[in-house]
Amino acid sequence: MEHNPDEHNLKCPKCHHGMEVVVHDEIEIDRCTNCKGLWFDDDEAHRMRQIEKSELVDHGDPVEGWKFDSREDIDCPHCGKRMHKSYDAKQQHIWYEVCHEHGMFMDAGEFTDLKDESVLDWFRSLIKGNRDIVAP
Ligand SMILES: [Zn+2]
Ligand SMILES: [Zn+2]
Repeated sequence: MEHNPDEHNLKCPKCHHGMEVVVHDEIEIDRCTNCKGLWFDDDEAHRMRQIEKSELVDHGDPVEGWKFDSREDIDCPHCGKRMHKSYDAKQQHIWYEVCHEHGMFMDAGEFTDLKDESVLDWFRSLIKGNRDIVAP
């Protein structure tokens, strides 16, 4: 949906369509109506990660998301400053854009990936801890 200031809080930094507000467990995030990328203010991504079923907000098609992943030169939808590419310390294949003053932008599927992996990591640590019991 084309960005309309009356309807949308934010303009998607990647594809410049309008972003709609999505609420999950009292945390409000913005989701692009076109590429389904997600905008998280400040520490919202971190808070969202701890919440059960929060990956439901990330309902975009990851394949569509990847198309936008390669786009460079993303400006913060709040201040218009160039955003920095960053990656998750534990999962270095997940790249997202960060404005240190306002928040971060993730492509469709990235938040789910981030969340899934923490479950996997947890399983790994479990298996590691029981190395004697679990066959190689
Ligand atoms: Zn978009
Ligand atoms: Zn900013």
